[in-house]
Amino acid sequence: MAARTGKQVLQRFRENPPNLWINGERVTDPTTHPSTRNAVNSLAALYDMQHSPELVEKMTVTSPTSGDLVGRSFVIPKSKEDLCRRSEMHKVWADASLGHMGRTPDYMNVNVMAAGTAGEYFAQIQPRFGENIANYFEYVRENDLTLTHALTSPQIDKSKQVNEFDDPYIALGVVKETSSGIIVRGARMLATLPLSDEILIFPSTVLKGGSDLKPYALGFSVPNTAEGLRFQCREPLDLGRSHADHPLGSRFDEMDALVIFDDVLVPWERVFLIDDVDLANQAYGQTGAVLHMAHQVVNLKIAKTEAILGTLQSVINMIGTSDYPHVQEMVAEVIVTLEIMKALKIASEETASLNRYGVMTPGRGPLDAARNYYPAVHRRLIEILQLCSSSGLIMIPTEADRLGEGSADIKKFLQGKNGDSDERLKLFRLAWDMSLSSFGGRQGLYEQFFFGDPVRMKQALYGIYDRQPYVDRINAFIANDGEPNA
Ligand SMILES: Cc1cc2nc3c(=O)[nH]c(=O)nc-3n(C[C@H](O)[C@H](O)[C@H](O)COP(=O)(O)OP(=O)(O)OC[C@H]3O[C@@H](n4cnc5c(N)ncnc54)[C@H](O)[C@@H]3O)c2cc1C
Repeated sequence: MAARTGKQVLQRFRENPPNLWINGERVTDPTTHPSTRNAVNSLAALYDMQHSPELVEKMTVTSPTSGDLVGRSFVIPKSKEDLCRRSEMHKVWADASLGHMGRTPDYMNVNVMAAGTAGEYFAQIQPRFGENIANYFEYVRENDLTLTHALTSPQIDKSKQVNEFDDPYIALGVVKETSSGIIVRGARMLATLPLSDEILIFPSTVLKGGSDLKPYALGFSVPNTAEGLRFQCREPLDLGRSHADHPLGSRFDEMDALVIFDDVLVPWERVFLIDDVDLANQAYGQTGAVLHMAHQVVNLKIAKTEAILGTLQSVINMIGTSDYPHVQEMVAEVIVTLEIMKALKIASEETASLNRYGVMTPGRGPLDAARNYYPAVHRRLIEILQLCSSSGLIMIPTEADRLGEGSADIKKFLQGKNGDSDERLKLFRLAWDMSLSSFGGRQGLYEQFFFGDPVRMKQALYGIYDRQPYVDRINAFIANDGEPNA
């Protein structure tokens, strides 16, 4: 099968529904369930873009094995141009949700590409693991599957290592090995987009300790229909309202879930890593996966910042505040953020180099800067949208109000400077959904944590960034006695 269409995506969900639990009920068909059907349709629309005549060239490449057209996010980049062309593809999918679907499938596609081309890394543990991950990459690419992932352990007691809990299988671990595979038990957080076909459990990056932690050093994948696997979803943010009332939440609630493994059998051919804590801890970094994922992310954050800027300027135009200097200053802050993110994306592509597996990998410095910078600045972008919109974010009667008995009052009192009340309210509803609704609130938390804890990300940057040349320069400067050169 080549790049999937939306229809094929929906059909697979109907035939193989992931084991999702929402509000105490099993979702038997995510394509019709009121809490998931809109997000599933938005996901399907992304896949349809791969077949649009205007986009097909941008969105797909020829598979090196089947010769079929497959999604471009599966490309194995060999040149900087390959990365730039992949960026264009990321941006098309990101723009479709105004940057508000964090886990469009390309995020995990580049993860599985980087891991799949780094078979030697996994083969250090057992040679077959190298083959397994390479085969899995090909399987996902050729079937154009949607993946979710979950890296962290349940948030029970962060002062303990996961093997110190009373129950050793709160955190996901290997119970035993059998001739058919490994049996795993426990839970992982936090799978965004459980509306997907398979889950990739990759090594968590924070196993501190020795052989006691071996059962928790894990890399494998299973279908989301695997026996014993269950996704406990959070409360839905799609409230069943119209697109006009809830422009983002009614389309893009990608959902988040606690993933529970109740003695799930992972067949050997789907096992990529066990037993080796050091290799587990370094897997994301050493395979280059983290950089390819960060490269997708920087494109997504550019799309989101552009959407915030567009919404902000529209709000300003709608209420006639564009001449106030402090308003202009706030817009300038958003522009600066956007340009910094664009520059970091370009810099990551310009400084790309071939990694040890022959994959053109975007530059680490600019991407580390982007993923540490954006979580903090996103809060300010939202604050600016709130400060510039003020009461307009609250006085947003619903579509039913607009069409009901009070419509004349709404038309009169809630019109804008450059638009009627319908246009004004649709715009402000969008600004509200970005910044204030429950959907907007989850976006704020997502930006803080989706790539990891910002505190520990900064500590990691401190750990790896080479500052010695700058220290040496300062030492040389201080040591210089100030005498002019002879
Ligand atoms: C909306 C959302 C979507 C997400 N989607 C995904 C996903 O798709 N896949 C996935 O794998 N993960 C996902 N995550 C999870 C994300 O990776 C984690 O939230 C993140 O790694 C932080 O872990 P935690 O939530 O357990 O927080 P904790 O680690 O419990 O942190 C809580 C607080 O304690 C502090 N703290 C805890 N331990 C330490 C320490 N050792 N050193 C210093 N400070 C510490 C933190 O700084 C923070 O302030 C998502 C998270 C959110 C909020």
